[in-house]
Amino acid sequence: MRSKQRTVVIGAGVGGLAASIDLARSGHDVTLVERAAYVGGKLRSLSPQSRAIDAGPTVFTMRHVFESLFADTGCRLEDELRLHPASLLARHVWCDDPAVLDLHADPKRSTEAIGEFAGAREARGFSTFLERAGALHECLREPFMMSPRPTTTGLMREIGFAGMLAMWRTPPWLTLWRALGEHFQDPRLRQLFARYATYVGSSPLQAPATLMLIAHVEQSGVWLVEGGMRRVAEALASLATRCGAHLHLGNGARRLEVRDGRIVGVHLEDGDFIPADSVIFNGDTQALADGLLGDDVRRAVTSRRRSERGLSAVTWCIDAPTEGFDLAHHNVFFGDDYPSEFSDIFDKRKITTQPTIYLCAQDRGEASAPLSAGDAERLLVLVNAPADGDQRGITDSELAALEQRVFSRLETSGLRVLHKRDHIDVTRPQDFARLFPSTGGSLYGSANHGAFASFARPSARTPISGLYLAGGSVHPGPGVPMATLSGRLAAASLIRDLD
Ligand SMILES: Cc1cc2nc3c(=O)[nH]c(=O)nc-3n(C[C@H](O)[C@H](O)[C@H](O)COP(=O)(O)OP(=O)(O)OC[C@H]3O[C@@H](n4cnc5c(N)ncnc54)[C@H](O)[C@@H]3O)c2cc1C
Repeated sequence: MRSKQRTVVIGAGVGGLAASIDLARSGHDVTLVERAAYVGGKLRSLSPQSRAIDAGPTVFTMRHVFESLFADTGCRLEDELRLHPASLLARHVWCDDPAVLDLHADPKRSTEAIGEFAGAREARGFSTFLERAGALHECLREPFMMSPRPTTTGLMREIGFAGMLAMWRTPPWLTLWRALGEHFQDPRLRQLFARYATYVGSSPLQAPATLMLIAHVEQSGVWLVEGGMRRVAEALASLATRCGAHLHLGNGARRLEVRDGRIVGVHLEDGDFIPADSVIFNGDTQALADGLLGDDVRRAVTSRRRSERGLSAVTWCIDAPTEGFDLAHHNVFFGDDYPSEFSDIFDKRKITTQPTIYLCAQDRGEASAPLSAGDAERLLVLVNAPADGDQRGITDSELAALEQRVFSRLETSGLRVLHKRDHIDVTRPQDFARLFPSTGGSLYGSANHGAFASFARPSARTPISGLYLAGGSVHPGPGVPMATLSGRLAAASLIRDLD
């Protein structure tokens, strides 16, 4: 009988957790080592007061990815997580505009809202935009997202006639910004839908128009997680443990041991050594290229330039009462010049003067009990920033000035956050860079810029025998469901290679 394969998974981000679940249920002896004291990686929470506030991802989509991960172990997602469909996808606000635009789960309601907000022509533009996004999603879902290593030629072979038509209409060299101009004449709507590029850490002016498929993904369901997004990481970790994986928190991997071109084990920061037949690395792949896991594994991936890093952010977690504005769960307060917002970040490497602000009001929406006037509520406020946390980051005086601008901008729309000073926890690019080594604070791996960026991400297999990759910097890309899929692809590649 073959002895049990020993696999070490490095990193308990969603990618590492998903890989651990699949490998443990397939009979591997899985040890998951995580440097932080908690599971989830970027999916983390902070507690400036006593209550935990989601400090990472807040938009939960592609529920089916998690359903099938749980179902393959014989469990049901709904027994572990209480998910509520969000009827309101997001509330959007512009600075000099008293009008507010809500996007709804029901596309008919969104079309009506857009019609009232910007007129019938824009409402028709929204309908054709959604059709186009749906066609792209249909054409790319299997051959791109689910493929272990997609190539442009392979994709062309697999997408069929309908797919060819969709790709002819939206070729990869067309930018999202330009494509949106074909649907929307109102600059506010172009800006609203261009924001999807930031979901993968990119500028809409450089990202391919194919990213509009994110609109289709959101339209297919945004879910609110009872207890907060942290519950997703906890549920995955609990499932991994039940499948037999051993979790070790608070101890990082220091070096990967390679003999005769093959992984043989992992040296930990506390001096221990874990022998292993295979390793799945769930940190940012740049950490390998930078030699943080030893010189032997540098060649596992090619190094990326600083200019290619995706967006970082400054975030404020706040537990305080608010007044003056009817917040939804997801809210966006747009800055007035989107193109210069992104050229400031990616070219001038600075946060623009009047940035777009994302605000998640965690206690609002279907998954929470209604708030009473004066109740403190949990907020995550986020502004995009360049991923230069390993260079200069954001200084204290820059932060103070930014904070002043951000909260006065919110006040322009009527929103006042009361007594926030005592109840706030700030994370800057340099903090993200410390938490996620070799990223410079990038939250999404490389920026998805240019026609072929989606094909340039490393895939699960590496040139080093026994070493595999999973996570947001790996194919199919960043975001909680995508990184989860990458973990599944890594586990599947490993199992296939053994067979
Ligand atoms: C503020 C913010 C908002 C976001 N918003 C959204 C959103 O709304 N929706 C969405 O889908 N996505 C969002 N994302 C992106 C999403 O969170 C990530 O793409 C996803 O969680 C990445 O998962 P991962 O598997 O790559 O692991 P990561 O979360 O990157 O975790 C990697 C883990 O590896 C550990 N590690 C690294 N090196 C070592 C080592 N040597 N030894 C041991 N452990 C190590 C790290 O400590 C970390 O825990 C957001 C991210 C952030 C930060």
